[in-house]
Amino acid sequence: MLRLVVLGPHTRLLSSVCAACPHSPAGCCVAPPTMDWSDVGRIVALGGDEALAWLEGEICARNLVPHGDGLALRKAKGLARPDGPKLAKCVYHAQDGCVVGSDRRPATCNYYVCESVYVDDRAAADEARAVHASLARAFTAWDAELGARVRASHPDGPPWDRAFLRWLGAAFLELSARVPDASSSSASPCARLVLSRETDA
Ligand code: SF4
Ligand code: SF4
Repeated sequence: MLRLVVLGPHTRLLSSVCAACPHSPAGCCVAPPTMDWSDVGRIVALGGDEALAWLEGEICARNLVPHGDGLALRKAKGLARPDGPKLAKCVYHAQDGCVVGSDRRPATCNYYVCESVYVDDRAAADEARAVHASLARAFTAWDAELGARVRASHPDGPPWDRAFLRWLGAAFLELSARVPDASSSSASPCARLVLSRETDA
């Protein structure tokens, strides 16, 4: 069964299929997504000083590794499930799943599901696909803009210090608040999603 928790940029798509993923014992976490600029900004915007300290610690520990588009999640070998097997997967994946909350993951971890999930629950699939497509478009646009701003202000790469992380949080809030008139027929599904955060959160 597919469940949508629609909270704007923090939306989650959840499925019972994932608990026994047919594709990998570690599910999607065998190939973690990048923590892009907007993902880092989202984490800072949601978590404030605690999130800042967490990000600094994880960068220091090299679990999050700076690269051209944000931070890469380190992969480490470990048990995918209590009864095995051992395989390389996201550093935040434990035997019973992800150990970080939805507010500290790349947004893709929250809103991506594969075709097996859609096939399992055809009744919810259309809405879920639309939600996924809206979020993918929104995050792609936010990442493009944030990436351009980062390159303009830090041509040799950002310092990844607290001031830079705070700046990313503020910039993410600014971009994600740009919502077109929701009453307009041209308002995108993403606009609906962003607005729904204000009522559902
Ligand atoms: S979305 Fe698909 S690949 Fe990912 S954990 Fe769920 S069933 Fe597995
Ligand atoms: S952050 Fe969590 S959900 Fe995302 S890939 Fe890593 S273990 Fe999986």
